[in-house]
Amino acid sequence: MSSLHQNLINGSWVAGAGVNLNKNPSDLADVVGEFAQADAGHAQTAIEAASAAFPKWANSSVQERADILDRAGSAILARKEELGKLLAREEGKTLPEAIGEAARAGYIFKFFAGEAVRIEGEKLASVRPGVEVEITREPIGVVGIITPWNFPIAIPAWKIAPALAYGNCVVVKPADLVPGCAWALASILHDAGIPPGVFNLVMGRGSVVGEAIVGSPDVAGISFTGSVSTGRAIAARAIEQGKKIQLEMGGKNPMVVLDDADMNIAVGACVNGAFFSTGQRCTASSRLIVTQGIHDRFVAALRERMGALKVDHALKQGTEIGPVVDQTQLDQDLAYLDIGRNEGAKVTGGDILGRETEGYYLQPALFTDTHNAMRINREEIFGPVASVIRVKDYGEALAVANDTPFGLSSGICTTSLKHASHFKRHAQAGMVMVNLPTAGVDYHVPFGGRKGSSYGSREQGRYAAEFYTTVKTAYTLP
Ligand code: NDP
Repeated sequence: MSSLHQNLINGSWVAGAGVNLNKNPSDLADVVGEFAQADAGHAQTAIEAASAAFPKWANSSVQERADILDRAGSAILARKEELGKLLAREEGKTLPEAIGEAARAGYIFKFFAGEAVRIEGEKLASVRPGVEVEITREPIGVVGIITPWNFPIAIPAWKIAPALAYGNCVVVKPADLVPGCAWALASILHDAGIPPGVFNLVMGRGSVVGEAIVGSPDVAGISFTGSVSTGRAIAARAIEQGKKIQLEMGGKNPMVVLDDADMNIAVGACVNGAFFSTGQRCTASSRLIVTQGIHDRFVAALRERMGALKVDHALKQGTEIGPVVDQTQLDQDLAYLDIGRNEGAKVTGGDILGRETEGYYLQPALFTDTHNAMRINREEIFGPVASVIRVKDYGEALAVANDTPFGLSSGICTTSLKHASHFKRHAQAGMVMVNLPTAGVDYHVPFGGRKGSSYGSREQGRYAAEFYTTVKTAYTLP
């Protein structure tokens, strides 16, 4: 039997135009697997299959959809250790983080299994006598899903599950760097009985497969997570064609630490938010905004905790920080370390580390003596790198927190109810955290941001219905 992991198109496993070797960033000698590379023609075939399957799936019983999603969710949960290991191998998250992400994907499928049977409408009296008005939700059609490398199973899951639950057909293109988890998800959905064409996986480059999906007139909507530049380019093309679009992009998330913060909670939240998952989270805390009364003690405590962080192979027991995902991302992280130094910031950490196996190991880095106008505080670095910005008081902290082109997640560590309440109200972000890391969110509530971080309606929870359905208003004179 071939070891090639193939594309899933119209219910069949299909080889591609080439082969992609998926490598382990903790150990470059470890090849996770061989994955087919689709081309634009494969994408087109998948879109045609999805279009052909749509009328039947859109009108399928909600019980059928719920059962398939529930079976997929159960299979993911039953296999979370194996999927977590695969995720840790291909992306470099530590094994506990990776198993947690796999479990989250399972719960997402189960949540949307429930949502499928809870699709709601409204019935109102008309302003015209005798007329009835009904508002119903219908699927939008074929949805193109384009996902990044940093959450290889959770992000595909939180887009695919609602798309299917609400009756859409799907063509998904995972990040070429990490096709393994998306392939495993496709095989689970296939085994769970998803009808041919309803769900299609096409693996390959964004510039080839992604472009073909975005450019197809038969795709009604695109849900994308990734970088700001790619997201904006996709949106411009999609909007030109009248497609529905949902973008989840970067962050430059602030974590405010006030003088009255509990030091253990603050240091714990900042270490987790800034460095766990190697800092490769759009919700990572990259700007630590600290008031002057606690600044020096906080920086000392944070440096001490950082010095004890275990950076090693993602599968090794006790590892707290895995490797950076690849050479390109490592180069980006190192470039920003130089940018910060040249801007006059002081840096602790940030060295390349040697380990038993060859991988992209980077020591977590902390910039101090920074101000909010520096590039390191305005642009997403996407690595284990955070900056401390010293401020006078809460008022300045809030102003600095909001002074950013992004608005995804925003946090505060304080024991003051007054400041916590004020911050929750005035933080210009889609998600606000009090005494919790900026990263780490629940799967049953909305996820998304403001300003440059997001575009379109929210993902996850029942708010996902906004993107994956279109509303119809029907008038009847009985
Ligand atoms: P990209 O935005 O380039 O990639 C995200 C997805 O879009 C991938 O599947 C990619 O395919 C695809 N894609 C790329 N170009 C196109 C295109 N023209 N048309 C359609 N799809 C396309 O991000 P990267 O993964 O390259 O990461 C670059 C930077 O983006 C990171 O360093 C980080 O700063 C940021 N990023 C932010 C994330 C977030 O959640 N905020 C997540 C990931 C990255 P391909 O497989 O070819 O890469």
